[in-house]
Amino acid sequence: HAFFLTDLTMAIERTFSILKPDATERNLTGAINAVIEEAGLRIVAQRRIRMTDAQAKTFYEVHAERPFYGELVSFMTSGPVVVQVLEGENAVAKYREVMGATNPAQAAEGTIRKRFAKSVGENSVHGSDSPENAKIEIAQFFTDSDIVG
Ligand code: UDP
Repeated sequence: HAFFLTDLTMAIERTFSILKPDATERNLTGAINAVIEEAGLRIVAQRRIRMTDAQAKTFYEVHAERPFYGELVSFMTSGPVVVQVLEGENAVAKYREVMGATNPAQAAEGTIRKRFAKSVGENSVHGSDSPENAKIEIAQFFTDSDIVG
């Protein structure tokens, strides 16, 4: 296509998302993904899995020394999760905004965590906190050919 100045400023990004066991348990995957899609993010890869202990430990390795690590790993392996890749303009920051604060008590009105999360631990969704971590997290669960934009 012709070259436009907007090509330089538009940042089409990908981020990694998990619908956590408290969301699948309460049959909320569609309701949560409706919020994600309404925010303009596109689900370009998706798989429902049971996370293994090893996968959860690797995924949350940065929190290994935190007091909640053991509880977090057992929660993430306690039921099915939906792992997905979201694509859109500024997808990383946009999804973090739509998710809301880690603790639902501090999450803004209308955010996924304010609407659906049960507690600071069982908070319904994960989203990458930077484009660099998004790449690493996506690669833990998806190959390039799994992602259909
Ligand atoms: N978590 C927890 N207790 C805490 C802080 C975090 O159980 O005091 C869990 C919670 O599920 C959270 C995850 O650990 O989503 C990762 O924590 P992080 O600080 O990275 O929050 P997030 O990026 O998910 O908002």
